[in-house]
Amino acid sequence: MYMGPDHGGQIMKNSNFKSTSNRSAPTKYRTILHIDANSFFATCETALHPEYNLVPMAVCGSAEDRHGIVLATNALAKKYGVKTAETLWSAKQKCPNLLLVRPTYGLYEEISRKMNRIFYDYTDLVEPFGIDESWLDVTASKKLFGGGKAIADAIRGRIKQELGITVSVGVSFNKVFAKLGSDLKKPDATTIIPPQSFASVIWDLPVNYLLFVGPSCARTLNRIGIKTIGDLACANPTTLKEYLGKTGVMLQNFAAGQDYAPVTPMGYEPTPKSVSNGMTFRANLATPQDISFAVTYLSMSVAERLRKHGLCCNTVAVTIRTPNQQSFNRQAPLNHATCLYSEISKKALDIIAENQYMHKEIYSLTVHAEKLSPAEDSFQQQLFADDWELNYKKHYSLESAVDSIRARFGRTAIGIASAVKNPLIV
Ligand SMILES: [Mg+2]
Repeated sequence: MYMGPDHGGQIMKNSNFKSTSNRSAPTKYRTILHIDANSFFATCETALHPEYNLVPMAVCGSAEDRHGIVLATNALAKKYGVKTAETLWSAKQKCPNLLLVRPTYGLYEEISRKMNRIFYDYTDLVEPFGIDESWLDVTASKKLFGGGKAIADAIRGRIKQELGITVSVGVSFNKVFAKLGSDLKKPDATTIIPPQSFASVIWDLPVNYLLFVGPSCARTLNRIGIKTIGDLACANPTTLKEYLGKTGVMLQNFAAGQDYAPVTPMGYEPTPKSVSNGMTFRANLATPQDISFAVTYLSMSVAERLRKHGLCCNTVAVTIRTPNQQSFNRQAPLNHATCLYSEISKKALDIIAENQYMHKEIYSLTVHAEKLSPAEDSFQQQLFADDWELNYKKHYSLESAVDSIRARFGRTAIGIASAVKNPLIV
């Protein structure tokens, strides 16, 4: 949950923002929404218990515990000056009649899911940022639903009507400014920060309004004379780097509107550069049968992950550790790109045999798939003999069928017969 502009500590959590300065500027402006529920826990409670709105109310940690803190407040409690993250003791001083309500996390999760379902009616590019905030990239949805403001107002109206929750929406051309926009007007409001005139809208605001400028960062900036977002945008980059390192440069880019981080949907996994699977088995691999089993077992999950990402490998590598902890690594190119475990394991066994390891003891073994390429490109570039292609397709459908059985019934549902009760892995 977002608790005011104190968000300096989140910078490492959100890796999407890390390398924004390396990304090139898009040729067209995007339309990004940041939707933030107002006093989320309190609004969820009052949606369920409208009577809570008649008195000053706070959702809080353990009320019996003197160290409990306020997690969210309703409008009446706000009038008494009760604030989020304040201790209960202090809140009670300000408002002796304050109604204290314990959080119902299941309810908040359910309402959060329902909010997200509404977002997906407008775009599938939805990136949650905590339970009550999300970014939406609606660039491609504008033709269908109108401009950024129209979409923001429509979503805001639906959430209010269908769920009884009020949200604030920021509309801008990047994630940082959209987030800033959702903080500017509360509750139940839409704020636009346009690409052509963002400086006149936000450059006079205190620098700590910017995402990732936490209290200690703001103190450092203030000390060197940077009070506003505009000051940060126009500051000397060398000075910023001296005081804040890379973060200083990144924050200056943000202040100047140069944030190109994409809205990354939930469950998104970046394309891997290589796929490996290694294991220290329960006993040393001592026979060619053991080694063959181990290689097959490891290659199966390597191939499965390649298929999941729609990739093929052009090189296979093997890393071996011997019982006296010596390490050996060799790689070999494949004749054609593949995502089949039968071909990956054959190449891995060739490497092991060629390097005279078939009859030595092995402590641990890793199979790597490297030089990855998209499966479609890989097939198009290869001229296959008809029977080879047929054979490949046959194996591909067999191995993909295993993938779907495992996805449905779990990894142990199907596998190689030699894995059953094999003392090397059981
Ligand atoms: Mg919120």
